[in-house]
Amino acid sequence: MEKIIFIKYGELTTKKGNRKIFINKLSSNIKNMLKDIPYKLIADRSRIYIETEEITKVVSKLKNVFGIHSIVIASKTDNNIENIKQSVLYMLNSISFTTFKVDTKRADKKFAIHSMEFNNIIGSYILKNKDVKVDVHNPDIIIKIEIRDNGTYIYSEEIQGLGGYPVGIQGTSLIMLSGGIDSPVALYLALKRGVDMECLYFESPPHTSLQAKEKVIKLASILNKYSLNIKLNIVPFTEIQETILKNVKEEYVITIMRRMMYRIAKKFAVKKNFKVIFNGESIGQVASQTLSSMNVINNVCDIPVIRPLACMDKLEIIAIAKQIGTYETSILPFEDCCTVFVPKHPVINPTIEKCIENEKKFDYETLINQAIENIEVISNLNIENNYNDLL
Ligand code: ATP
Ligand code: MG
Repeated sequence: MEKIIFIKYGELTTKKGNRKIFINKLSSNIKNMLKDIPYKLIADRSRIYIETEEITKVVSKLKNVFGIHSIVIASKTDNNIENIKQSVLYMLNSISFTTFKVDTKRADKKFAIHSMEFNNIIGSYILKNKDVKVDVHNPDIIIKIEIRDNGTYIYSEEIQGLGGYPVGIQGTSLIMLSGGIDSPVALYLALKRGVDMECLYFESPPHTSLQAKEKVIKLASILNKYSLNIKLNIVPFTEIQETILKNVKEEYVITIMRRMMYRIAKKFAVKKNFKVIFNGESIGQVASQTLSSMNVINNVCDIPVIRPLACMDKLEIIAIAKQIGTYETSILPFEDCCTVFVPKHPVINPTIEKCIENEKKFDYETLINQAIENIEVISNLNIENNYNDLL
């Protein structure tokens, strides 16, 4: 008898035609996650099996992999009835329970005994050897026995996986990532749908501090544990912001600033062949996220902008931020370029005509091109790096 991990796919199973692509992507993502651990992996139509001496380490890595419905640590033995009985009893010695039910799946049709009959055989054997009772309706534990042609798997617990699709199955896209609470959550939700991510962060030193930048690096690093491929692109935004402040009517400063961010994001996305842009906007959260503002700001960008948080309450967003471990970093008090220049009365019903009027006063195309040319790229984002010096 040996211990083996196996993975159930969940939502992948609904994608009939693409099933193989999904399984291959999930396998390769798992291999990436397990890079430093010795293991053997076998994928088939319904499962991925992992044999390893490092069960705990492997399971903790698998908990960060999208596309996994559940993780099972099973005892594996051959299809000999006596061996199965022994293995069941051995497993039960480490579980405390008073009622149980046996649930056999006979995938190997060469195995002579039918599932129902085998449930009874194993059930009686357990009753003979342990002071417990059968309860088919509401048992403390269900003992699952899967008889397959390559052996029998026995388990009673499933660890819930993250669900979603394997990261990267939808290619890579771009997200506008700030140091706030929202955009890291939007990034997480996009990864969950199988989109790998590059991030775009606008910084305005010296108006924004080095800590504000380090905070975004840390957030991207926290989220990179779900991807391992995340890159952070840092756009120098100071000159554009200062020019806006000099030339634009105060109430339009934020609207125009966001139109510039969108223009840069769009141009950068097209350059890198990313098909859509994500961000952390949520309807009505601030003046620049009223429907009128979204319309006017989105008007400069002719590729889709996906807003995973559009219809979520702040409290719902905060709950996810806490669950994914970004909240504590997001609430650190280092100001972002959006917050530094907020006017007293930002316009909540801006018009495109007024934006264009304001934007005519300076040559933003040149500034945008310069900003994109001077982007700083940070890859190898790793949460094990120590950011405590700065934060
Ligand atoms: P908060 O969680 O405090 O709302 P936020 O980052 O969401 O912070 P908003 O003003 O609501 O701040 O910005 C809306 C969205 O615009 C963000 O979710 C993010 O996608 C994008 N954004 C804002 N500021 C920046 C920035 N400096 N760099 C990159 N993207 C930004
Ligand atoms: Mg926000």
